[in-house]
Amino acid sequence: MTDLPATPASGITDETLALDDFRLLVENLPDGILLHLNGTILLANRAAAAILGHDQAETLIGASLLSFFNPDAWKRLLQTIDVPPAMNLRRWTAELELTRCDDRNAIIDTATGWTYYRGSPALITTLRDITQLKRGEEEMRRQANYDTLTGLPNRSLFLDRLNRELIRAKRSSSRVALMFIDLDRFKWVNDTLGHAAGDELLRQTSKRLLSCVRKSDTVARLGGDEFTVILPDMAHGPYAERVAAEILTQLVRPFVLFGQEAFISGSVGVTVCPDDAEDLDSLLKNADTAMYRAKSDGRNAYRFYTPDMHAEAEERMALEKDLHYALERGQLVVHYQPIVELASGRLVGAESFLRWEHPTRGSIAPGTFIRLAEEIGMISQITAWTIQTACAQAHQWRQRPDSADFFVSVNISCTRCRELSTDDRIPEILRATGLPPTALILEITENILSEDEEKAMAMLNRLIRLGVNLWLDDFGTGYSSLSVLKRLPVNGIKIDRTFIPDITQNPEASVLVQAILSLAQALNRKVIGEGIESKIQADFLRSRGCHMGQGYLFHKPVDAAAFEAILGRNFPI
Ligand code: C2E
Ligand code: MG
Ligand code: MG
Repeated sequence: MTDLPATPASGITDETLALDDFRLLVENLPDGILLHLNGTILLANRAAAAILGHDQAETLIGASLLSFFNPDAWKRLLQTIDVPPAMNLRRWTAELELTRCDDRNAIIDTATGWTYYRGSPALITTLRDITQLKRGEEEMRRQANYDTLTGLPNRSLFLDRLNRELIRAKRSSSRVALMFIDLDRFKWVNDTLGHAAGDELLRQTSKRLLSCVRKSDTVARLGGDEFTVILPDMAHGPYAERVAAEILTQLVRPFVLFGQEAFISGSVGVTVCPDDAEDLDSLLKNADTAMYRAKSDGRNAYRFYTPDMHAEAEERMALEKDLHYALERGQLVVHYQPIVELASGRLVGAESFLRWEHPTRGSIAPGTFIRLAEEIGMISQITAWTIQTACAQAHQWRQRPDSADFFVSVNISCTRCRELSTDDRIPEILRATGLPPTALILEITENILSEDEEKAMAMLNRLIRLGVNLWLDDFGTGYSSLSVLKRLPVNGIKIDRTFIPDITQNPEASVLVQAILSLAQALNRKVIGEGIESKIQADFLRSRGCHMGQGYLFHKPVDAAAFEAILGRNFPI
């Protein structure tokens, strides 16, 4: 303390020793102590000087406290402090902002109370610099509320804001729109260009989303590739629609990720409060349902929630739940449809089709449940089971003298294609069932190349080396069929069944099918016509060199027992 008497060099008395000890204690306190009156500093310890940005405590004597502390805050504090009744222990605490001598700002925890100095009342304030602590707290709050990758509000802040907006909307009778946005093909970017590119894509996406909304709107990241937008204060009008459309436009623009171009799109679900629902949980569910619809309608689309979507979502969830047990409860069965050699009419093989015999809903077609199975991650299990069942069955039928070269084909869904390469169950299945690889055909579609082409090619080549046959299913329906055909190592092409009804009437379909047949001949691939329902169609295909055919003209798909009855048959040609 500056005003304490200096230690005499000699003649130490008990009193001076006590003062000396006292000075030692005060000077070594980490907290600052200021004695002041009417805003003027009377005494200060070394720590107080350091907190205020001074080297020397002495230079503070006579300085004004208002030159350091935010004057208004300091005045407010002093106003709350009573006039001095007498010495008491009451302390008034406040966090005050301070500008130090070196112009740096600090946040100071203060406690102020009355004392006596040289017989008169004076104020004594202790100071503790809590700037670092505050910054740490702020950082923690930021981390708890904001997504570190994009800087957008995270799920917890999003829920908080949505809650607040809903309360406000109710009070002011305004409308709030909630959007869920899911990036299509994000996984593809992550898998093929790497995680750093995936992160960069998310960062750029967040910027593009922010560019589509007003300052008062909220864009948040829920996690993964899921974003959400809150549009409060929506007047009746097409604002939400405009934002949704703008988001789609922004997302299909190419992204440049560390020098590589990537193309994605978005699926957007929109719900409006109070039109669709008023409570938070229902709105979240609605937005999700609408987004799901946008996805299933082919992606790169936005959909507003409608009540019929709700019924559909419930139905889907119920089906999903049942599908989890379908396999273990023996509800999946494989049906077989004869594949006929068109030149001779001989039954040479069968395509296997999956059926779900649901205990209450009856037989469910694969069109409904294969995609569900993909979504809930059950497709690999189901496909492995189907291949296993079909192979075991084909092996058994091949024991019959009239069917020794019988083959079976299995449809492979695209998601499954990618997984096959990792778990590669096929060699094991072939070994276990005893079926030679050449008697197994896998039917793939050209979509297999749309995900990760290199990986897909590697897997297909492995299967070919194993001796398994690959047929390209649904040929002619995709956009790049002809170019894909040259690249894919398939040995057979199935003309999609949608072309067949027209081949004898519609010149375009007829020309297209003939083109496919001559192309296949040039590339030395087998051609299989499917969905043949009339003799004219069969004749047309046979006369133009189509090797095999299948369809209701010959037989519908039937269960194994019924198929056994037609095994080895010759169909009249
Ligand atoms: P796809 O492989 O192109 O199968 C042909 C579909 O046409 C089958 O329908 C079949 O029952 C039907 N069909 C057969 N002959 C005729 C005909 O003469 N006329 C008409 N109009 N239709 C005929 P299904 O069984 O409903 O299968 C639909 C699609 O589901 C299949 O198309 C295939 O992509 C997929 N799928 C079927 N079984 C499986 C499976 O075990 N696994 C996977 N991943 N997908 C499967
Ligand atoms: Mg097929
Ligand atoms: Mg097909």
